[in-house]
Amino acid sequence: MADTTNRYWTLADGPVPPWPEDDTFEMREAPIPTPGEGQALTRTIYVSLDPYQWGYKRRRVEPAGAPCHARTVAQVLESRIPGLAPGDFVFNTNGWAEYGLMGEGVPRPGYMVPRKLDPSQGRISHAVGVLGMLGLTAYAGMILQCDPKPGETAVVSAASGGVGQIAGQLARLRGVRVVGVAGRDEKCRFVVDELGFDACVSHLSPTFAEDLAAACPQGVDVYFENVGGAVFDAVLPLFRPGARMTICGLIAHYGDTGGDARAAEAARAEARGVAVSDLFVGDYVESHHDAFLADMAPWVAERKVRYLEDIRAGLETIPATFAEMLRGGNFGKMLVRVSEDPTLATA
Ligand code: NDP
Repeated sequence: MADTTNRYWTLADGPVPPWPEDDTFEMREAPIPTPGEGQALTRTIYVSLDPYQWGYKRRRVEPAGAPCHARTVAQVLESRIPGLAPGDFVFNTNGWAEYGLMGEGVPRPGYMVPRKLDPSQGRISHAVGVLGMLGLTAYAGMILQCDPKPGETAVVSAASGGVGQIAGQLARLRGVRVVGVAGRDEKCRFVVDELGFDACVSHLSPTFAEDLAAACPQGVDVYFENVGGAVFDAVLPLFRPGARMTICGLIAHYGDTGGDARAAEAARAEARGVAVSDLFVGDYVESHHDAFLADMAPWVAERKVRYLEDIRAGLETIPATFAEMLRGGNFGKMLVRVSEDPTLATA
């Protein structure tokens, strides 16, 4: 008999701790929803786990009992949307759930517009990564905001992560000296050996600040900020006149219980004459997504831009995998595959 149950994770009742704990999330079951007019029922294949989702939890953005929000790649099972047929692959927002509806009246952040995917354009999992909002984030922050010039030095934090790996490679394509900051040694090696950054230093090293200064002998012209905290403290004295910085994310501060880390960091950089841009990818989706994809898809296909994913398996693993990603346990863009990816099936 066909499965009629939709399993999903929701935020448990009670106070939300600074960082996720074992009982922060709760698995629930509900009947698989039926699509109404203008809607489609989809089965989730990949769930994207991203640091910003923790902000949603801490601010309790989602209605109580609702599936935790996430961008997903899914396959259409039933469709009442013209132009969308069973079997089609889509980018949508099913969240931490096995099934979900898309289309008219289905709640989603306004800028996360569901779309049909073309599997010939790239791997479908890339739609929540390098060929989707993560790639656009890197492009908007590095190219549109910081506009690095040949010969300049750019530093990228969380350099082996989803956004960081792309941001650094985009700068590299512009002829910029690119220095990554990452955690474990194997991440640093990957950033240099596989992604082609000029250097990468570990923020876990006791000599991190000196290592970073040594890797940037001319100083820093561009800083792509994903982290904050001690990494920013080490970059700050290295900024050169005319330096630009984009604040993409401040993951070291996502457990803070007060204060405005973004404003504080921007003020410290501006006091040294740095031009600071705040980045929100939603501001660029309508204006730049299609042009960005037309450039990025061939770059990835030709391996001018390389892209590492860290794909785990099983809906039940999501909370632990999410907590691990927030602690730096991911190596590449973190995803969880919750059902078979038919595009990878071998004959
Ligand atoms: P990543 O894949 O980069 O994963 C997070 C990484 O952050 C970890 O792997 C870890 O890498 C690093 N990290 C975690 N804690 C610390 C710490 N205390 N100090 C230093 N490094 C730490 O995630 P994403 O690529 O998805 O996101 C990167 C950033 O981009 C996040 O801040 C996110 O919020 C932001 N973002 C912003 C968007 C926007 O519109 N502005 C859109 C999308 C993402 P390591 O082991 O190397 O330390």
